Amino acid sequence: MPGLLSQLDTQPRVRDFLARAAEAGRTSHAYLFLGAPGSGKLDAAWALAQALLCEREGERGCGACDACVRVARRTHPDVHLYQPESATGYVIAQTRALLEEVALAPIRGTAKVYIIDRAEQLRANTANALLKTLEEPPAGVTFILLGTSAEAILSTIVSRCQCVPFRMVAPERAAAAVERATGVARERCRMALAAAGSPARAIEFLKSADRQAARRTVLRAVDALLHADEADILSSAKEVILAADAPLAEVESTQKAILEQNADYLSRGALKQLEERNKRELTARRRSGIMEVLASVRSLLRDVLTRLEGVPGEIVNADVADIVDRLAARAHVTGVLAALDAVSLAESRIARNVTPQLAVEVMLFDIRKGLTCP
Ligand SMILES: [Zn+2]
Repeated sequence: MPGLLSQLDTQPRVRDFLARAAEAGRTSHAYLFLGAPGSGKLDAAWALAQALLCEREGERGCGACDACVRVARRTHPDVHLYQPESATGYVIAQTRALLEEVALAPIRGTAKVYIIDRAEQLRANTANALLKTLEEPPAGVTFILLGTSAEAILSTIVSRCQCVPFRMVAPERAAAAVERATGVARERCRMALAAAGSPARAIEFLKSADRQAARRTVLRAVDALLHADEADILSSAKEVILAADAPLAEVESTQKAILEQNADYLSRGALKQLEERNKRELTARRRSGIMEVLASVRSLLRDVLTRLEGVPGEIVNADVADIVDRLAARAHVTGVLAALDAVSLAESRIARNVTPQLAVEVMLFDIRKGLTCP
């Protein structure tokens, strides 16, 4: 299995630049990846982490050693992904936890990687504590910050990082990259991209039976809305949440295994921190699972709009064309637009820590209202 860096087909310049730096052992201690959503910054961050943590002699991201496999599965204990914990951005407790964690030795190897998503949400009050560490991190620590544009990020952060620009990726190029990596038919690659967001996530999505099952569950729930009563909607919301949470079982068992492997030689404090980090990781994974399910609903509703507006061309969710047609036969454009708003609202509620169950229930009620309005 080739390493993640070699799979960054949609950003060849970034791929070559990072590969050269990794091979020469001359990576920067702090990067700032800049580009529009969907340009694959997070994929590139995981790919660089893999190159830095690879355990095979003379290799930089072989893709096959234990460390590479763990990074690819996003379960390596020395790669830390931080995302804003509140709707308004990073909270001070997060920066504090990050700084405490940075001071600890790596759990497995000699290097640690910190990926900080949405760096524009690091405001002055939370970022100042980070600046010194960003400038001179402990040996073996690499920071990778992700953001949309340098202007939106505190200049004190930008000046401490090596900036790496990402170009916009046309959807068809992204689909072609997923097709090359998986051998799956192009139309399923488009669907996976719509659900998962980036090429690397789409490739993982196509490998995960659980994630694809979650998508089918939520699309069936939307299909059933036309004839659903309140009790039906409440029980479908429950099914959707269960299906979206199913992939977490593997994450939990990996976390448990790592804890057990390390229980003997980590101090009590370090173990406690690992447990807390596991908890945060699980929360983040649960949220991203639900967000993926919502993205599938959005993609389905967009297909319904495509049908209603008589736009020629393919729909993204060709495997459930029957559902798209049934909804299009019943709904009107304004109702579908209202249903799309309901999806956005559910996303922002989940980002604000509303329980996913409640957010999904409200969304399904609102979508039914939209789709059935005369
Ligand atoms: Zn490796």
